[in-house]
Amino acid sequence: MAILKLNDVSYSYQNQYQSVEAVKNVSLELEQGKVYAIIGKSGSGKSTLLSLMAGLTLPKSGEILYDGDSIKNLDMEEYRRDKASVIYQTFNLFPLMTVLENVIFPLELKGMKHLEAKAIAERHIASVGLDKNHYKRFPNMLSGGERQRVAIARALATGSRLLLADEPTGNLDMANGDLVVKLLIDLAHKDKLAVVIVTHDLSIADKADEVFQMNDGILSRM
Ligand code: ADP
Ligand code: ADP
Repeated sequence: MAILKLNDVSYSYQNQYQSVEAVKNVSLELEQGKVYAIIGKSGSGKSTLLSLMAGLTLPKSGEILYDGDSIKNLDMEEYRRDKASVIYQTFNLFPLMTVLENVIFPLELKGMKHLEAKAIAERHIASVGLDKNHYKRFPNMLSGGERQRVAIARALATGSRLLLADEPTGNLDMANGDLVVKLLIDLAHKDKLAVVIVTHDLSIADKADEVFQMNDGILSRM
């Protein structure tokens, strides 16, 4: 079964003067173990689509199903925290927390005991290829690629099986960008995650299992 299913989902931004239809009647199914790329011009609706999948924006019409249940019926706070994780171009790590603390924090937030959270965090930091020497570093002591790997470890530690990455390599040089993409692909295939990558970079899209293009709010398969 699809982990996430969008049925005829639309979203428009409204202001005093106009309405912008950012996502128009999008239907899509995401499966675990696959990497999906979404490409498209700036302003075509990619970020809006990703934020709908993340539960950060609610559809104006249509329906989004997670594991077969309409996300409207789920605890949205829990959905955003534990089910769908977003990876940002700017990493969004907590600057005053160390690497280990960054990954432990969301686990403690949901009530996990410190030692258990620490064990899970260490396991996920290792799974993104960072060793113990990184635990006590602060984000500003890491390279961009290392920061993005910490963000991925933090997302995975919550148990999310759906990883939504918005231009994850946008602030990385090519070598680090390639490593991060390779990591996302490995995680999808080995750990059976569904990974969505919004990207301008066609060489990244090339490596995905399925590629979609957004064009003026309309999604089509490439
Ligand atoms: P992309 O990620 O492909 O650049 P977006 O999803 O950010 O596209 O934007 C899609 C459309 O919605 C664009 O026309 C954009 O200007 C508009 N838009 C995005 N965010 C807002 C907002 N908060 N208020 C009004 N319009 C918005
Ligand atoms: P992206 O890097 O995804 O293309 P954008 O530059 O389109 O991002 O948007 C950055 C932020 O500005 C988003 O939070 C988006 O919602 C907001 N935004 C984009 N277009 C508009 C708009 N026309 N009016 C208001 N806010 C907008």
